Amino acid sequence: MVKLVCSETKEFFNSDEHRWISNTGALLDISFIPKFDIKKIHSRSKNLWRYREAIPIEHNKNIISVDEGFTPLIKIKFDKKDVWIKQDQLFSSGSYKDRGATVLMSKAKELGVKKVVQDSSGNAGCAIAMYAALSNIECDIYVPFETGEKKLAQITSYGAKIHKIPGTREDTAEAAFNAANKSYYASHCWNPFFFHGTKTFAYEVCEQLNWKAPDALVLPVGNGTLVIGCYIGFTELLNAGIISKIPKIIAVQSENCAPLFHAFNNGLNDIQSIKTSKTIAEGIAIAKPIRSKQILEYVKASKGEFLTVNENEIFEALKFCGNIGHYIEPTSAAVIAGLRKYITMSENEVIVSLFSGHGLKH
Ligand SMILES: *Cc1c(COP(=O)(O)O)cnc(C)c1O
Repeated sequence: MVKLVCSETKEFFNSDEHRWISNTGALLDISFIPKFDIKKIHSRSKNLWRYREAIPIEHNKNIISVDEGFTPLIKIKFDKKDVWIKQDQLFSSGSYKDRGATVLMSKAKELGVKKVVQDSSGNAGCAIAMYAALSNIECDIYVPFETGEKKLAQITSYGAKIHKIPGTREDTAEAAFNAANKSYYASHCWNPFFFHGTKTFAYEVCEQLNWKAPDALVLPVGNGTLVIGCYIGFTELLNAGIISKIPKIIAVQSENCAPLFHAFNNGLNDIQSIKTSKTIAEGIAIAKPIRSKQILEYVKASKGEFLTVNENEIFEALKFCGNIGHYIEPTSAAVIAGLRKYITMSENEVIVSLFSGHGLKH
């Protein structure tokens, strides 16, 4: 049985409720025991739904899919060291956010939702808008007032409606949060079904390495959709007896906006208010990630750490990737900058990282 569980009181809710928040206003997680039948998995199409029994959707008829996932895992030499890079820039909407969106919007369809709201002018907005179009669900995307038209072009192309909100990024989030009272909040931060899509990154990496876990994962972290997803996914594989350890999660932030890095290195279990400045890695420039406690807990439990990269390192990584034929967006280059830093500290480890977003987006 799939249940929703309050992250604070541990109270359970049925997953057929249109619910994305607990009664006390706390975050929800999902309680569910996934199954992995390796023979069955191998017999299926190469997309992320091959792990069907590990994804908490009740009925196949509700699945909204365009054959997404099972992206190539390729070996690339970075500074003389071989690293596995997952090509998640190749998803249909241009980033790994499609992993979360295919599962979340399948759940929205299963619930009979007529309309979703979401707040993001970036890749999460694009992915939700795309899957909303595929499921014939109305979609309202809330963005800060000054968001450029170019950034909104992809979202509008899927037929979603844009709401421009004056004020800060937090004001936009609040407007979407309030609108979600009358519809369903397809938030990549609040809605726990999103993370049960991003977790398929872990399953695919494990299968592509012959059902073994790597030693380390170098991942981006802003709101933590991939960090949390990977921790959930690898923990499920561990509990199912498929792997014997969870990889260390090396989470990369931009030096100009690194609340998690600072909290972690000060031994805190939650973030403090910090000074931030502009960064070209816009996708991870999140000053107050709502799942901050969870992210800090998971990175610690994986025996991992946080790294920061500066603007120059991000720019260098972007050029480096272009020179080897991979066109990625600056946020994605921040991860590669972190990876290059991590390589210098690591010995004889199997390392997996990714291209998180396509360069043509920018
Ligand atoms: C969303 C995103 C990230 C960071 O993800 P968080 O959920 O904020 O941690 C990194 N790269 C790209 C391209 C993204 O779209």
